[in-house]
Amino acid sequence: MEHLIPDVEAVNRQPELLAIRKNLVGLTRKEIAAALVEGGEAEKSAKMRARQLFHWLYYRGASDFGDMTSISKDMRARLPDNFTVDRPEITNLQTSTDGTRKWLVKFPDGQEVESVHIPEEDRGALCVSSQVGCTLTCSFCHTGTMKLVRNLTPGEIVSQMMIARDTLGEWPSPKGNRMISNIVMMGMGEPLLNYENVAKALTIIMDGEGISLSKRRITLSTSGVVPKIRQCGEELGVNLAISLHAVSNDVRDILVPINKRYPIKELLDACRDYPASNNARRITFEYVMLDGINDSPADARELVRLLKGIPAKVNLIPFNPWPGSPYKRSSNNAIHRFAKIVNDAGYSSPVRVSRGEDIMAACGQLKSASKKERASKRRAVAS
Ligand code: SAH
Ligand code: SF4
Repeated sequence: MEHLIPDVEAVNRQPELLAIRKNLVGLTRKEIAAALVEGGEAEKSAKMRARQLFHWLYYRGASDFGDMTSISKDMRARLPDNFTVDRPEITNLQTSTDGTRKWLVKFPDGQEVESVHIPEEDRGALCVSSQVGCTLTCSFCHTGTMKLVRNLTPGEIVSQMMIARDTLGEWPSPKGNRMISNIVMMGMGEPLLNYENVAKALTIIMDGEGISLSKRRITLSTSGVVPKIRQCGEELGVNLAISLHAVSNDVRDILVPINKRYPIKELLDACRDYPASNNARRITFEYVMLDGINDSPADARELVRLLKGIPAKVNLIPFNPWPGSPYKRSSNNAIHRFAKIVNDAGYSSPVRVSRGEDIMAACGQLKSASKKERASKRRAVAS
């Protein structure tokens, strides 16, 4: 079963470490101060400078030292010798007919991930990626078919938010309504297998002097990396979503293979103990509706039984197909029959409306398209 746990060494080989000028995006105030001292700044003034830089970076969204007018001219001129505040490149930006936007973001080593903004009337959620690809191989998920995987750095995670705000013109951090009012860690990758970097990124995003997004507006979705669930609740206190998708270990082993390592009972016990959950802040159980696989009334009744004692809500996700996917979406009838049983038992069970399907931005469809295009070009050249 060891193959279910990725080669952490390999996924952590972070190419930015080789960069000569240090990128300050993704550093906490303390780390910025330490970097300044390393670059020759006196210890005494480093803390204050770090605070100013933090403000410009994350509150105002500055992407150029030249714009940071409260910092002395002399220092503004010197900072670029050792540091950058560069964003990753946006290699593609698509907008769906329903307003959903998808960014293809490219990092300096050429690796790419996708982020998606799902707008609603007076708010919107940004779906953020935590890894390039995913080491887990859930059989219904497009990201799980990507070969190449590495962890994203804290800076690469935070900068997805920054890029989206650049596009939407949402700087400085608004006090009132925001177009990006929520973050869901539901993009590419398994966030709890890159916990340290995700935690640091979210800590920066939550910081009141910067982007300042409350933990109540952040949801982390996991396929069930049980040992990290408690830590996430204690340290971050964000909302938790669990990709359950099946009510028996036999079926879940196939759909979500990490279940072989952390089966349903252990997963649900971790949910019962999740420090940040209560009746006001329920755990979301995501359940992808797959025709003839997990969508019977008996499955719905078993789900209700399993959730007993957990402050829970259920999110039913009609399966989003992708090229070559082995499953079919459940019929509307089956989905509504299932929803009614769960709802009648007292659990809210909305059916997730699929957004951005026309640009392959819906749940589980993310897989950097350019990679596919390049691969098919290579095949065309080879033949
Ligand atoms: N790795 C994390 C977060 C990313 S996936 C996790 O698995 O929870 C975000 C959600 O989309 C998960 O609930 C995932 O199971 C679901 N999903 C994946 N592929 C899907 C598909 N093809 N159709 C619908 N939902 C899918
Ligand atoms: Fe990874 Fe989540 Fe997709 Fe499973 S559903 S392969 S854990 S991204």
